[in-house]
Amino acid sequence: MESQKQFKRRFSFEFFPPKTDQGKEKLQTVRNKLAEVEPDFFSVTFGAGGSTRDRTIETVLSLHKQGISTAPHLSCVGGTREEIGELLDLYKENGINRIVALRGDLPSGMGASGELRYANELVEFIREHSGDHFNLEVAAYPEFHPQARNAEEDLKNFARKVQAGANSAITQYFFNADSYFYFIERLEKVGVTIPVVPGIMPIVNFSSLVRFSDMCGAEIPRWIRKQLEAYGDDSDSIRKFGEEVVTRMCERLLKAGAPGLHFYTLNQAEPSLSIWKNLGISDREKIAF
Ligand code: FAD
Repeated sequence: MESQKQFKRRFSFEFFPPKTDQGKEKLQTVRNKLAEVEPDFFSVTFGAGGSTRDRTIETVLSLHKQGISTAPHLSCVGGTREEIGELLDLYKENGINRIVALRGDLPSGMGASGELRYANELVEFIREHSGDHFNLEVAAYPEFHPQARNAEEDLKNFARKVQAGANSAITQYFFNADSYFYFIERLEKVGVTIPVVPGIMPIVNFSSLVRFSDMCGAEIPRWIRKQLEAYGDDSDSIRKFGEEVVTRMCERLLKAGAPGLHFYTLNQAEPSLSIWKNLGISDREKIAF
C-alpha cells in the first residue's frame, strides 16, 4: 500500500441522473445535505449506451454551477467519436475538468457497439481531442471485471488505461478490503502508480444489493449475506448492521493508506453520511494512516 500513501486524499459522492421532477427535487435535497460536509467532488453516471445523455448533462451542469466540482461519467460503448467529441467540448466550455471515463455496458439486444471498444481507447481519444484539460478517472476491479479473460489480462487492461493517460481510478465496490490491498500490491509489482480510490456501497436494501452485486461481479461475503438474510424485512437492523460493517471496512482502508473514498449514494444522503460521520472525514487531517 506504500504507493497509495503519497497521494492527497479525496472524498466524493456519486449520483444517477433523476428521471422525474420529483427525483430532481429529491436530488437537490440530497445534494444540499452532502454539500455541507464539503466533498472534493460529485459525479453523475451515464446510462447504458448513452441512454441518459441529456439527463446526465443537465444534472452535471446544474450541480457544478452550485459550487462543488462535478464530474460526468462518460461511456464509449454505443457512441461515435464525433458524439463523444461534442460532449467533451460542451463539458470543457462549462468549466468541467474531471471525467470518469468508462467503456459502459450495452443492454443485451442493443445493436452496434460503437467506434471505441474499450475504456483505454476512450481515454486515448479524450487525450487526443482535449489534451490535458480533463482529469481522467477510470474504473478498477479489485474482484476482477466479470468479463475479464483472466486475472492477468484484467490487470494488463487496467494498465492500458493508465498508459493511455488516466490520472486516477475509482474501484467497483467490494466488501472485502483484502481484495483491494491485493489489487494495489499487484499494481505496485508492475510499476503502475496512480491513486486508486475505493468505491463504497452503503448497505441499505438487501434484495437490490444482491441483484446489483450479481450483475457487476461484486461479492457479498457469506457472513454478511447470511446476517442480512436473517434480518428479513427489518430494514432498520439491515441499515444498522450495514453501516457498522462498511464503516469498519472503510477504517481499515484509510488506515492502510487508501487515497480517499468514493460513495455510491444511489441518490440518498443518510447512508453515506452516517459512514462519513463515523469515520470523522470532515476532520481529514486527523485520519491517521
Ligand atoms: P474496460 O476497462 O474497457 O474493461 C472492460 C472489460 O474488457 C474488462 O473485462 C477488461 O479486462 C477487458 N478489456 C479492457 N481493455 C481491453 C482491450 N484493450 N482488449 C481486450 N480486452 C480488454 N457503467 C455505465 O454504463 N455508466 C456509468 O456511469 C458507470 N459508472 C461506473 C463507475 C465506476 C467507478 C465503475 C467501477 C463502473 C462504472 N460503470 C458504469 C460500469 C462499467 O461501465 C462496466 O463495469 C463495464 O462493463 C466496464 O467498463 P470499464 O470502463 O471498466 O471497461
